[in-house]
Amino acid sequence: MTDQNLQMNTNKDNKSDVLSIKDLRVHYAVRDGFHKKSLKAVNGIDLHIGAGECLGLVGESGCGKSTLAAAIMGLVPLTSGSIQIDGQDSQKLSVQDPLAQARNVQMVFQDPFASLNPRRSVRETLSAPLRLHGIKDRHEVEKRITDILDKVGMKADAADRWPHEFSGGQRQRLCIARALIVKPKLLVCDEPVSALDVSIRAQIINLLLDLKDELGISLLMISHDLGVVEHMSDRIAVMYLGRIVEEGIWSDLFTNPLHPYTQALIASIPDPLAPSDKQSRITGEAPSPLNPPLGCAFNPRCQYAFDACRTGDIPPFFTQNGVETHHARCLLLDPNHKQ
Ligand code: SF4
Repeated sequence: MTDQNLQMNTNKDNKSDVLSIKDLRVHYAVRDGFHKKSLKAVNGIDLHIGAGECLGLVGESGCGKSTLAAAIMGLVPLTSGSIQIDGQDSQKLSVQDPLAQARNVQMVFQDPFASLNPRRSVRETLSAPLRLHGIKDRHEVEKRITDILDKVGMKADAADRWPHEFSGGQRQRLCIARALIVKPKLLVCDEPVSALDVSIRAQIINLLLDLKDELGISLLMISHDLGVVEHMSDRIAVMYLGRIVEEGIWSDLFTNPLHPYTQALIASIPDPLAPSDKQSRITGEAPSPLNPPLGCAFNPRCQYAFDACRTGDIPPFFTQNGVETHHARCLLLDPNHKQ
């Protein structure tokens, strides 16, 4: 199947999509020595997330995941392309009604220690977004605070305490509460467990999953670790050097990874039973987005690379065995490819 046909099958407008991204580009002009260059942090991304769905977005640090999150949050200008949130164009909405945009999408950040103002009590932290969105009635504010604390597994008396009194996991629960208190449709979680103790991570992931089901919200779960998104995502998109290189339903992607990069990411998920010297790692450095390789961006690190990978255009998406919900940008999948 060609790239063009895939666009028709995977990116058609779906009225129930909470997030719909079309051909999104976020480029920055930077100086490289005496020259001005364009850093293509996000370079032609199409994605969608349905109502109540969790999309896992994985890739190494520097691949553009956080820039994509910032673009969805309206924190960086788009070079081209569009983002629709709940059917509304985010750029138009940010001009017409910036608060509506902020109400529809909220974010949970990586570091719960840096995310909470140490000079604000939990009550002040949780009431600030409500007041910003015009909810000022004291009883309503108190009710919302008590309800959301209960939903994230905290006692009501936490409202009278201060951030330094809580552990990392509890602080992340408070950050999740602050994000959800305005009842967003989409929660963007950027590495929400990577700063936490391993023993706490599963609790926070399970909490996010429970909240997704209970509140009917959609989740964009961003991580450098495929193992983190494995058990919580309905679909997974793999990002490399500013582009999606593979996307599919999580079970398809794990049982039959199509792209060599995804195969390497899966092989590098730590296996507690394997000796550490026998565990797989992705070798080599990711190329600089200022100087991307010709052809497939993964070719300098790919053990299967052949001439066409280094000289041609960026590979389009291909499917395998007609499974249209699972596709990857790899020339090995090209039905015309001959080794
Ligand atoms: Fe490897 Fe070529 Fe496929 Fe890129 S297109 S992943 S270099 S085989």
